[in-house]
Amino acid sequence: MTTSRIPSASAIDLPPFVNEPIFPGVDDLKMREAFPRAIAEVRKQLGRTYPLYIDGRDVTTPNTLDSVNPADPDEIVGKVCQAGTQEAEAALDAAERALEMWRDVDPSQRAMYLVKAADSARRRMFEYAAWQVLEEGKQWAQAYNDVAEGIDFLEYYAREMVRLGTAQDMGSYADESNFCFYQPKGVAVVIAPWNFPFAIGCGMCAAAIVAGNPVVFKPSSQSSVVGHHLVEIFREVGLPAGVFNYVPGPGSQIGDLLVDSPKVTVIAFTGSMSVGLRIVERAGRTPENQASVKKVVCEMGGKNAIVIDEDFDEEAAIRDVLYSAFGYQGQKCSACSRLIVVDNVYDRFVPKLVEAARKLKIGPAEDPGNYMGPVIDAKAQRTILQYVDLAAKEGTVLYRSAVPDKGYYVPMTLVEGITPQKRLGQEEVFGPLLSIMRAKDFDEALAWANSTRFALTGAVFSRNEEHLRTAVRQFRVGNLYLNRPSVGALVKVQPFGGFKMSGAGTKAGGPDYLLHFMDPRCVTQP
Ligand code: NAP
Repeated sequence: MTTSRIPSASAIDLPPFVNEPIFPGVDDLKMREAFPRAIAEVRKQLGRTYPLYIDGRDVTTPNTLDSVNPADPDEIVGKVCQAGTQEAEAALDAAERALEMWRDVDPSQRAMYLVKAADSARRRMFEYAAWQVLEEGKQWAQAYNDVAEGIDFLEYYAREMVRLGTAQDMGSYADESNFCFYQPKGVAVVIAPWNFPFAIGCGMCAAAIVAGNPVVFKPSSQSSVVGHHLVEIFREVGLPAGVFNYVPGPGSQIGDLLVDSPKVTVIAFTGSMSVGLRIVERAGRTPENQASVKKVVCEMGGKNAIVIDEDFDEEAAIRDVLYSAFGYQGQKCSACSRLIVVDNVYDRFVPKLVEAARKLKIGPAEDPGNYMGPVIDAKAQRTILQYVDLAAKEGTVLYRSAVPDKGYYVPMTLVEGITPQKRLGQEEVFGPLLSIMRAKDFDEALAWANSTRFALTGAVFSRNEEHLRTAVRQFRVGNLYLNRPSVGALVKVQPFGGFKMSGAGTKAGGPDYLLHFMDPRCVTQP
C-alpha cells in the first residue's frame, strides 16, 4: 500500500487525558477565598452589552435582551444583542465560507485550538464560575464543576480527534488494499440549554469544530452572558474567522431558520423534549437546494428515578437522594424526580428523608450556606408552582419549604402517594419537586422506574448483589448509578446521555461522540 496517500493526523505530543479536579467542598480554604473575590470582581462588570460574534467580528444589534440574576431580578447581569434573521443568515454564510478551509486543516492542528481554549478557560475558572452563580443561580460547586466539565470536553475531544484523524487500514482483498477515514459533515448549528451554561454549549461546539465543522452557536436566552465565554476563549486562541459564530436570539424566532437552512448539515441540540422533537421533524424535510441529509445530535429531558431497596446504606441514601433531587434546584436533566421505595423500608426511610430535607437552607447561591437557590426565571417559577399545586391534588405533600420573598424561588417539595398513572409519575418538572412512590417489592420498583417515556439516568441503593445485577440489565437508562447519586457524570469515564424520549443515544463525552459530526470514506487501491 502507498502509505503517503493515507490521511493521517500529524503527530503531536499530548499527555493522556485526565479529568479536571472537581469542586473540593465549601470548606476548602482556596474556595472560601477565591469565590467571594471572583463574585465581587464579576459584579463590577455587570450590565455590559454583549455583541454577536460573526465571521471573526463583533456585531451589535439595536435589539438587546436583559439577562438578570434569578436571586434578584433587579440586578441586570448583562444586555445581550439579539440576532434576527439577517444576522442568523450572515452567521450561516460565514460558517459556509469557513468550511472550505477548515475541513482540510490537519486534525491535530484543530485539536490544538481546543487544548489552548481549555487553558484559557482554566485560567478563568473562578471568574467563569462566578458568572454562573449570578446569571444562573448556580451554587459554588455546581458552577465550578460546570466550568471543569467544559474544560474536560475541550481536552477530551482534542485527543479523540487526533485518534480518529488517522485513517484506518481495513486490510487487503484480491491484491487491493483499503483504508477508511473521516471527513467533517459540514456547517453545524449548536443549540444549547441554560442549565449547564458553559459545559454543554462548549462540549457540542468543541466536538463540531474539532471534527472540522464550522459552528453557528445559539445559546439559551437565559444564559447568553455565560454563552459569550466561548467567544472569549475561541477568540483568544485565534480560531480562524467563521469557524465559531455566536448568535444569541430567541429560539422561537431564529430557531426554525437555523434548523431549516439548507446550508446546515448537522444540528447539535440539548434541551427539552418538545423542542428536540420539533428539530428532529423539521430537519427531516429536504428542500431541493439542500445537498445533504441532516444529522440531529439530540439530548433531551428526563424523569429520573432512584430506587431504594430493602437493604441499603441509609445515611448515604438520604444524602445522595437529597443531592440528586435538590442540587441546583432539581434543574438538571439527570436530577432525581421520582423516589421509588420498596414497601418494607418505606415507613422507616421516608420520614427520615423528610426530616433531613427540612434542615436544608434556601437562598441566593452566592452564599455557600444555602443548599438550594432560585430557579432560572419567572416562567420556570410559574410552571413549577403549577406542579406544586398538582402535588397536593395527586398525592400528600410531606414537606413544602418556605422561600425568600424576592427572586425566582419555588419551595422544595416532597410528595408521596404518586404512582406511574399520575402526571407527577410521568412528566418532567425540572424543579425541586420529588415524587415519592411506594412499590410492593424490588421488581415492581424496577418496572415503575422504566415506566416513563424517558430513559436518561437512574440510581439504585441496595446491598443485594442479585438485585444490583438485575438492575444493570433491566433498569433501562443511559446512565445507571449504583449506590450513589443519579447526577454528576464525568467526561470520558461516564459518557452521558439517554435514549427513548431522552435523546438519540449520542453519549456526550464518550468515544463515539465525534463520529456524529463526520462522514466515513473508504479508498481502495491496487
Ligand atoms: P429548551 O426550552 O428546549 O431550550 C433549549 C434551546 O432550544 C434554547 O437555546 C432555546 O432557545 C432553543 N429553542 C427554543 N425553541 C426553539 C425552536 N423552535 N427551534 C430551535 N431552538 C429552539 O430547554 P431549556 O429550558 O433550555 O433546558 C431544559 C431542558 O433541557 C430540560 O428538559 C432538560 O432535561 C434538558 N436537558 C437535557 C440534557 C441532556 O443531556 N439530556 C442536558 C441538559 C438539559 P431560547 O432559550 O431562546 O428559547
